[in-house]
Amino acid sequence: MALKTGDEYLRSIKALDLKAHMLGKNTSDLDQHGLVTPSRRAVAYTFDAAHDPETRDLFCVESPLCKDVVNRFSHLHQGPEDLVSKVRMQRLCGTGTACCFQRCVGMDAANAIYSTTYECDGKHGTPYHSRFKDYWAWVQQQDLVVDGAMTDPKGDRGKRPKEQVDPDLFLRVSERRPEGVVISGAKLHQTGMLNSHEILVMPTLTMRPGEETWAVCCAVPTDAKGVRYIYGRQASDTRKLETHTMDVGNPRFGGQEVMTVFEDVFVPHERVFLNGEVDFSGIMVERFAAYHRQSYGGCKVGVGDALIGATALIARMNGVEKATHIKEKIVEMIHLNETLYACGIACSATGEATPSGNYLVNMLLANVCKLNVTRFPYEMARLATDVAGGLLGTMPSAADLEDPVTGPYIRKYLAGAPDVDVVDRMKVLRLMENMVAGAGAVGYLIESMHGAGPPAAQRIMIGRQADLEGKMARVKQMLDIA
Ligand SMILES: Cc1cc2nc3c(=O)[nH]c(=O)nc-3n(C[C@H](O)[C@H](O)[C@H](O)COP(=O)(O)OP(=O)(O)OC[C@H]3O[C@@H](n4cnc5c(N)ncnc54)[C@H](O)[C@@H]3O)c2cc1C
Repeated sequence: MALKTGDEYLRSIKALDLKAHMLGKNTSDLDQHGLVTPSRRAVAYTFDAAHDPETRDLFCVESPLCKDVVNRFSHLHQGPEDLVSKVRMQRLCGTGTACCFQRCVGMDAANAIYSTTYECDGKHGTPYHSRFKDYWAWVQQQDLVVDGAMTDPKGDRGKRPKEQVDPDLFLRVSERRPEGVVISGAKLHQTGMLNSHEILVMPTLTMRPGEETWAVCCAVPTDAKGVRYIYGRQASDTRKLETHTMDVGNPRFGGQEVMTVFEDVFVPHERVFLNGEVDFSGIMVERFAAYHRQSYGGCKVGVGDALIGATALIARMNGVEKATHIKEKIVEMIHLNETLYACGIACSATGEATPSGNYLVNMLLANVCKLNVTRFPYEMARLATDVAGGLLGTMPSAADLEDPVTGPYIRKYLAGAPDVDVVDRMKVLRLMENMVAGAGAVGYLIESMHGAGPPAAQRIMIGRQADLEGKMARVKQMLDIA
């Protein structure tokens, strides 16, 4: 059975030789680095949950590909039940970590590549699908973490890849060799890249004839020669390097975003899954995006659960939990969060089989889900900020709490309801600060807006999927209009 524990995962990642740069330094001790360890613990959570008696039924699933029990994060969905279970699993991880746990992108990429390569082979006689099946069966058996690398830097957004001043602004095949291809370029905003064993590179947009060079999908080990990482900053991130964990807000877990540079990286043929077939680049992008938009109906809802819990707790600690408007605000947060979950479940329950056999979400509903995700977490953050009070942005540090001069003042003047410990109240406020304005807001807010594409991308897909012609035809029929 290929199921790593969290500790086994951490050891396997430590063994990789990753070329990372962080805060101006070439960093080799990623394993010990204060900025990195919370994000690794968040990924480890997805491994431990597969062993926890309370959650393992949801996280473990029989894979027809490798004919073994695998972690659902590497599963190819075999029916609507699998799609629903995926969302339930993501919610659970979000609730448990209160952050982005980083393991969804690879799962979403794999499911998109699986069906796209099948259809590409059917049309072009290419060998991609069987290659991908071999590759992914290996990933499942090894229980690996795979990053999904779609987003190119894109340079001037008004120009196509070949019109850019620098062709590397979209990742491309820079050389074709008998035994494989060489890729050059970069992928931005890579979630959990330094916590991953493998990278699935995909095109960032629908390529057109003449843009074959940029229509590439392949798998690269994260420690491959020529791959270099530059760590993304997050608000208040260096609090993780301080001695007082309370000021971090989320003391155990956190997210990770990385800029990844591919400098003449060689990829052997057996790891190449699209190489110039421009007519399948758009299908791959749309399917990946749809799966990832579904994902947010689980993961962001889980993080939302944590924010609702913290908001209800601080209301109690502040002595306002019985006030009508406070209760209404918390109910509003629940309503928004459960609406996102409803979308995540709906697009899963109405998913359909692809010709390759794995299941695809309902694309219309997945895009509706994500469009709501670009809004509701922001409204929930607003409501949480309202309920928490101004201390969310003005509270003294944990070091001042320990100081013999200032500590007693802080304990005296930050008192809340009579039975509430001041330090506990400060902890809840710091967690909320982390989620709405600190490092956690990258995962909860900025990722909600841009991850899986900005709102305009969802609107385009909603317009395309909504069958407007059909709706008009039915009205015409009802009214006897020819
Ligand atoms: C926290 C986070 C995590 C992420 N994780 C991943 C990941 O793991 N893997 C991955 O591949 N990507 C990831 N992404 C990337 C994400 O998919 C992109 O940020 C998103 O697609 C937007 O692209 P962009 O950031 O380049 O913004 P832009 O494309 O520059 O968009 C900015 C604005 O400009 C508009 N715009 C852009 N181009 C045009 C145009 N041609 N015409 C009109 N309007 C335009 C957009 O609609 C938007 O309003 C992540 C992003 C974030 C923030």
